[in-house]
Amino acid sequence: MVLERMSAPDCESGVVFDGFPRNLEQARALDEALAKQAKAIDMVVYIKVSEEELLRRLSGRWICRNCQTPYHAVDSPPKVWSKCDECGGELYQRPDDTNETIKKRLQVYFAQTAPLIDYYTRAGKLMEVDGEGGIDGVGRRIIVALRGECVAR
Ligand SMILES: [Zn+2]
Repeated sequence: MVLERMSAPDCESGVVFDGFPRNLEQARALDEALAKQAKAIDMVVYIKVSEEELLRRLSGRWICRNCQTPYHAVDSPPKVWSKCDECGGELYQRPDDTNETIKKRLQVYFAQTAPLIDYYTRAGKLMEVDGEGGIDGVGRRIIVALRGECVAR
């Protein structure tokens, strides 16, 4: 499915995968499939965030039941607690975003996804970006890192 989408005209100059591959098996399969088309992954951006910060971010997420607008209890709270700024709808936490489930998701991450860091480091494709702090700062660091990488090639 991914490869089919990549052959569309709007992908001619390249594509960015977000949250994929998620484990070694997927990464190897992707490399093999790309190689058959004489393509390859150019670089992998690893946005590094401490476990403590991940827990803080994930456990603070609230979503409007009506229009799905996301909020964060600390970083971007609604003007009136538990009411959506956009539509007045009720805010709720997805079962996925409760502390117990988040800890389980992080365990899955460390078991399955973290080995990709080693995999892409060995391939010389990993670029680490500091993911602590606000969205603007992290976004800027990603752009700076990508620009540097493009100049170096
Ligand atoms: Zn809403």
